[in-house]
Amino acid sequence: MTDETKALLVIYTGGTIGMVKDAASGALVPFDFSNMYEHLPMLGSFGYQIDFIGFEPLIDSSNVKPDFWVRLVETIELNYEKYDGFVVLHGSDTMAYTASALSFMLENLNKPVILTGSQLPMGEIRTDGRENFLTAIEIAAAKEDGVALVPEVAIYFENRLMRGNRTTKFNAEGFNAFVSGNYPLLAEVGVHIRYNRSNILRPNFKRLRTHKKLDNNVSILKLFPGISPSVVQSTLSIPGLKALILETFGSGNAPTDEWFINALEEAIQSGLLIFNVTQCKAGSVELGKYETSVMLSRIGLVGGHDITTESALTKLMYLLGEGYYGDALVRLLQTPLRGEMTIE
Ligand code: ASP
Repeated sequence: MTDETKALLVIYTGGTIGMVKDAASGALVPFDFSNMYEHLPMLGSFGYQIDFIGFEPLIDSSNVKPDFWVRLVETIELNYEKYDGFVVLHGSDTMAYTASALSFMLENLNKPVILTGSQLPMGEIRTDGRENFLTAIEIAAAKEDGVALVPEVAIYFENRLMRGNRTTKFNAEGFNAFVSGNYPLLAEVGVHIRYNRSNILRPNFKRLRTHKKLDNNVSILKLFPGISPSVVQSTLSIPGLKALILETFGSGNAPTDEWFINALEEAIQSGLLIFNVTQCKAGSVELGKYETSVMLSRIGLVGGHDITTESALTKLMYLLGEGYYGDALVRLLQTPLRGEMTIE
């Protein structure tokens, strides 16, 4: 790694940030980032080279699929030695899923991968995209004694830098679109960028290892008062299903009805892994705290601690893709691999 940042790579995948009004038609069309120095001349003042790759086609992030994550990982891998850091421009809708997936797929990451986007298109006067983009670049380039300050996958949005696999999109309107309910901010941005260093992962200086096999034989069942046996049964009997995230109430609680517990127990005994993740945006699953979770742990649900649903889903895809099952899978699910959960 060089002392000074020499070059960054911006990977543009789509989303609102890249939209500008077409002068002729007035419609929103993708911004041509290959001309980004022309649109944003201040990029030249950073003093390092900023290169650009645009995905083809550009997508609304609602169309993100595991293949897309593989493509992103391949792009980063291919360019890893050439660049000091990466900025990924991405729609905000599924950004938390992508950030979580990348964190698992990029093992031994020692360089910044900063995702950002915006709520208002780059071409709008009041856009939040310009600030998000320029600050994400500054963060991706930041080094101290030749070492990247943020060598992890993070989301920068509206003055806050968050660990990617701790985030959830919670606001479809406000500029502060993301929350990191269970992990403190990595940096706060005002006049200065204040890095909360003790919250940021340290580089391990090992060689980057990428993981590109993702298994999507997973599903999510969100509990609600009045959930019927047929909804539960039809989810549990999805053909080929290997793991189910059960989004439970509060600290991991669920109805105590016999039909419900029996259905889950039977599925677990037939080999389905059920991962208990809370519906809350902050706080942790604590199996056994209330009577309504005692049975869940007794029948073999795996507690997700304070993991987000986005992280739980992508961690399962990654671990199943790597071929883990049984006790090894359970053990890794309950071990923080990339800072995605806190075990009290
Ligand atoms: N629908 C857009 C997307 O996720 C919204 C955004 O960019 O913020 O691609």
